[in-house]
Order: sequence, then C-alpha cells, then structure tokens
Amino acid sequence: MVQAANLGFPRVGLNRELKKAQEAYWKGKVSLADLENTAKELRARHWNIQKDAGIEVIPSNDFSFYDQVLDTITMVGAVPERYNWDGGQIDLDLFFAMARGRQDGSTDVVAMEMTKWFDTNYHYIVPEFKADTEFKYSRDKAVKEFEEAKALGIETRPVLLGPVSFLLLGKTYDNLNALDLLDKLLPVYEEVLQKLEAAGAKEVQIDEGTLVLDLDADAKEAFKKAYDKLSAASGLKITIATYFGDLRDNLELAAGLPVAGLHVDLMRAPEQIDDVLAKLPADKKLSVGVVDGRNIWKTDLAKASAKVQKAVDALGSDRVQVAPSCSLLHSPVDLDVEDKLDDELKNWLAFAKQKLQEIKLIADAANGSKDEAAFEANKAAFDSRGSSSRIHNSAVKDRVAGLTDADAQRHNPFDVRIEAQRELLGLPILPTTTIGSFPQTQDIRQARAKFKKGELSREEYDAFLAEKTKEAMAWQDEIDIDVPVHGEYERNDMVEYFGEKLDGFAFTKNGWVQSYGSRCVKPPIIFGDVSRPEAMTVRWSSFAQEQTDRPVKGMLTGPVTILQWSFVRDDQPRETTCKQISLAIRDEVHDLEKADIRVIQIDEPALREGLPLRKSDWDQYLKWAVDSFKISSSGIEDATQIHTHMCYCEFNDIIDSIAALDADVISIETSRSAMELLDAFVNFKYPNEIGPGVYDIHSPRIPSQDEMEKLLTKALDVLSPEQVWVNPDCGLKTRGWEETKPALEHMVAAAKSMRAKIEQEKAA
Ligand code: GLN
Ligand code: ZN
Repeated sequence: MVQAANLGFPRVGLNRELKKAQEAYWKGKVSLADLENTAKELRARHWNIQKDAGIEVIPSNDFSFYDQVLDTITMVGAVPERYNWDGGQIDLDLFFAMARGRQDGSTDVVAMEMTKWFDTNYHYIVPEFKADTEFKYSRDKAVKEFEEAKALGIETRPVLLGPVSFLLLGKTYDNLNALDLLDKLLPVYEEVLQKLEAAGAKEVQIDEGTLVLDLDADAKEAFKKAYDKLSAASGLKITIATYFGDLRDNLELAAGLPVAGLHVDLMRAPEQIDDVLAKLPADKKLSVGVVDGRNIWKTDLAKASAKVQKAVDALGSDRVQVAPSCSLLHSPVDLDVEDKLDDELKNWLAFAKQKLQEIKLIADAANGSKDEAAFEANKAAFDSRGSSSRIHNSAVKDRVAGLTDADAQRHNPFDVRIEAQRELLGLPILPTTTIGSFPQTQDIRQARAKFKKGELSREEYDAFLAEKTKEAMAWQDEIDIDVPVHGEYERNDMVEYFGEKLDGFAFTKNGWVQSYGSRCVKPPIIFGDVSRPEAMTVRWSSFAQEQTDRPVKGMLTGPVTILQWSFVRDDQPRETTCKQISLAIRDEVHDLEKADIRVIQIDEPALREGLPLRKSDWDQYLKWAVDSFKISSSGIEDATQIHTHMCYCEFNDIIDSIAALDADVISIETSRSAMELLDAFVNFKYPNEIGPGVYDIHSPRIPSQDEMEKLLTKALDVLSPEQVWVNPDCGLKTRGWEETKPALEHMVAAAKSMRAKIEQEKAA
C-alpha cells in the first residue's frame, strides 16, 4: 500500500501561541512550566491534526523552541565556550542564551549567528566548529517527544538533522574542514538512534538537505562513511530526506546510501523522477514530494497522482510514500480561518492542514480508492484559476511580452548621467543621506492600528502622518542632511505597503510563517497579473519636497524584493511575475520624476537571497533579476538619480551583478564587517557611487563622530572621494529617536570633517 507521509508541521501554532509564550517567558511574565505546557499542547494538537487527516507517517521532533539546527547543536553538545556550559543536560535557559545572547548583571555573552536555511526565509542558528570541538549526547528532546506522542497513542517517525548537513551548515575557525569532525560526531548520532529504538521507534527521518547542493569529494565521502555507520548502529529504518532542489550529480550517492528510504522533492525538481526511479536500488522505498511545502497553492491532484503512479509502476505500491515536497514548516497553518479572503481565491489555496488532506487523497487514489468528487472539485478549481479574469490581464501580459533590451537601459552611461545629476543636485562631496525609514515610534504604530480599526478617519490619520513627516523634514534641514527622506511613516512593511496598492496581490489574516525564533512573517500572495491602478508614493514624497529646498529622495521597494518576500503564483515563471512588478515600479519612478522628485531609491535587500542553490544556475537568475531592476529604473532623464540599497548580504560573489544594476548610487550594509566589504573593492573597481554604511543601525549603540570618520577613511582607501556617500547601513525604523538623533548628528559632523580634510589635502 502507498503510504501518506509528512516530513514536518509548522510549530508556532495557528495563533502564534508558541511565539507569545516564548516572548512572555523571556520577559519573565510566565514560568518555564507554562511555556512547556503551551509547547506540549501545540505538539499534541499538531499530531492529532495529522492523525485525523489520515497521515500514516507522522513526524516527531519537528517541534522546536527556536530552531531545529540549534536543537541539533544542543543534542550533540556543541556548545561554544563562551556560554560556560557545565557539560550536563542542556536546559532551555542555556538553549535560549545560545539563540539570543545573555545579558544579566556582569554576564554579557553574544548570541550565535543566524543565517538563511537554504533558499528559504527561515533562519537557523549557525553551529560553530573548532578543531577541538567535542561532542556528547546532551539533550534528549528527540526521545522525549517520541515518547510523548506514543503516550497519546500516536506512533511517530522522529526527525533528525543529518550529521553531514549539520557539519556542512556550520561555520569553522582556523581553516578547519568541518567534516574532519565527523568521526567524533557519529558516535552521538549512533547513541541517539539506539535510544530512539529503545523507546520503541521503528523508523527515523534524517534530513540531509545539502544533498541538493554542489558537493566536493570530501563531502561525498563523508556521506558514505556516515551512513555506513548509522545504518549499522540500530535496527531503525532510516529515510534520508532531500528537498528544495534536484539531486543531480549527487543522485547516485544519495540513492546508494545503505538506508531504507529516500525522499525527493518533485515540486522544485519534478524532472528528476525518471533518473531517481532508474537509480534507486531494489530494496529501497521512495518518498515522493508531490505537494508543495513552500507555497500556498492547491495541489493539482491529477498531476500529482500521475507522478505517484509512475513511481508505483516502477517500484510497486509498497515502496512508495506520498509526502509534501519538504517540511510544512514553511507553510501557514490553516486556510479555514481565513474569513477575509473571498471564496474564489480561497478555492485556489491550501495551507499546511489542507496539504495533509491532499496527501491523503493522492495516497488513497494510488491505492485504488479515489475520491472522485474531491478530484472533480480540484479540477474545477484549477480550471477557474486558469481562466479567471482576476488573474489574467492581457494588457499586463502584452506589456511584458513587448519588453525590449532598450527598456532595461538608461539613455546614457553613468559618466554622462552623473554630470547631469551633479549639475541638477549641486551636492557637496561625501553627501549625507539615510536609507529611508525613521523610527516607527509607539504613537505611529498606535495611529495606524486605530486607523485600521476605523477609530481614526482617513483625514485624521493623514493629518497625523503629515505632522510627523513635517517634523522629520524640519529636523533633517536643521542638522544639514544633504538628501533628506520623508521617513516612511505611512508604511507598515516595505513589501506589504506596495502589495496593498498593487492589483494581483492578496493578504491573509493568519498566514504566518516562522522566520526565526519567535519571529514570523505574513507574506502577501501574488495571485494574478500585477498592475498599478494609481501612483503609490508620489503623495508623501511630494509633501516632503514641499517642506524643503533640498532634493528629497523618493523611496520604493524593488521588484525582486517584492517577489522574494511574497508567496508567488506557480502558474508562470517567477521571471514573468518579477517583470510585471518591475513595470509597475517603473511607472511609479516615472510619476515621481514628473512630480519633480529627482532622487529615487529602489531597495533590493533580497536580491542575493534569490540566488539558486547551485552555482551553475546563478547566471540565469541574475540575468532576469538584474533586468527587472533595470526595467524599474530606466526610461528617465539622465539627471534623475537612481539609488538602490542592499543589506544583510555578502555580495562579494555577485559584485558584477550589483555593478550591472547600474544604479547611480548604492548604499550597502558594511559597518559590522567594514574590512570584508572593502576587500571586494580592492579587486573590483565599482564604477558608480556608493554609500558604505558608516554605522550599524541594528544596535542601539550611538557611534561617535570619530568612529565614523575612521570607517570613512578606510572606505576612501579603496574608493575615490567623488564616489562616496555617507549614510547609516539600513533603515532606522526599529530604532528610537534617542539614539537616532545623536547618531545622525555625529554622522553629518563626520562627513563635514572629512570634506574639510580632503579640501586641505587638495590645497596642499
Ligand atoms: N527603505 C527601507 C527602510 O529604510 C529599507 C529597508 C531594508 O533595507 N530592509 O526601512
Ligand atoms: Zn537595509
């Protein structure tokens, strides 16, 4: 019989119960026991949802109080020295200290680093490895959760992050190859497997997501060694799970490992099915990921069933499991509670709970008991989505189809444009500016909430925003910022704000997805062709410009970032959707120019995170991503100056593409890693202007004038003074005015002092 399986369920809870409990615990408002109770209730609820949906292979240990990689770090006792661990069982307080740092009394220990999980917007805690790192079984979470489910009468398949991926995802010191630690690590995994077996487990899911990445010979060897050992360590049947891409050149390796089963992602990489079926040894089960764990669209049941049938034909039904493409961690929990979405749109969607039902329907059909009515209804939903006039707008499609290379080019090269811009703007060298937002203080958030609830009228809310914007403009004049911004007080979120003004977007009430720790995001849904019914930002930018003689910088979110931070429609290539957005932003740029806003920033902080997992796929992505930005920023006069901004981005390896954006000015996060950024510019002469952030806005610290001068001096070692802008490294919306005011005053003073020094040197 074909089995219905799941790989992981969202852990935070439909109403973000876990988030609320965690944050209350951190604030000292609830006890550890309360927090643990909430977690226990959520686990029970989620196991029961899966059981009730008819899922036969239900995961455990997919829950986490923060992150599954940190769970693994603590399971194997890889605690960095700075936490002063006593070597005993690791408790939640130590666990949280590693995630969030610890600051009390005389202790001040920084948190472990965090980074993106493959190409998702989920962030994991990065393991830290040194040559002398030792491992020791130190947290019995996996066993406890297995037993907890068992006590509820639910037999589960525990999930572990695999040892090789665990090592590969870490960071190392002193040129260590993390895989050198494998021999020391494996005994702990063997012990865990034995403990799970002793507790009654029969199977285990071991996630080895790195099998879809480019692997060197060492890594391939490590996989063989690891699974030779682990398969012999216990009687547990091991399924190795891969996701987010195709196995490609690692297929033979993955299929050949001495384990009981392999999971493959047939949503991201449907084309790999034939190869997988051909290479899978005769004793092995295949788990086919045919329901998208990363997106919110209904599964095409007929299509999914055809994939499953192919597997059944080749392997026989006892060797096939139906599963989501990856853990459902990346999906919102339950569509049923979305009472604000209209029925037509809702009928095209499936969240985690609905995806489980789909898995069951597909498995049943493969077993000869097809629910004809459900399949009919599913087909009807797909037909309506295929033809709905809400989705398909021929004017938009024609406009994208008609794009030419010229649409993605400014009229003249940078050296011509910059002359016109200098003449129009008349700025000093080392001009000062900020990244866009000013502190979103309590009163602003309250006013927005009241406006949303209808307690504040449109007029009242606008008057409030006008007052705030006016204040910001006056203050920037006073402290002498050369290119002021309006402050973005009217915006909640840099993607949501635009999504709400564009056609083709929808918003959920409760569609939360964990981003990191207790933080969740609620991505907009891009369901249809994107167009811009009317200007989106001209009003506040113009209002700001009326308050000052200085050139105000208009602020837009770029097409790649809007795409990247949304749930994107799956019925056309991402490139096409991105180009549609880029045309909407282009129209906005043109309207701003018409309204005499002559400096316009198009933020693209998410450009780098869209990079494909395999290097050989990068060029194709970068081509359309860069083109999309350029479509947004072209067709305007030479004298109109385009800025862009990027943050959280190690951009050394894509610096050619960043230059290819051909923005007149780029501002970039560098203050925390000044040296690293500047390294890139030693070998690569950045052609346009650039503002290497001179202070870290992620910290409440107020940097001194002197500190910023030092950073600027460093920047001027590799960049020319005509080329450099002076700005913080990101928007200031998460900061308070107490820090922001003095910090920006110091920043302007630093710019002025550096200008004077440069003049002096010139004169001498
Ligand atoms: N303009 C945005 C702001 O200042 C940029 C945010 C970002 O880079 N993430 O808030
Ligand atoms: Zn930023």
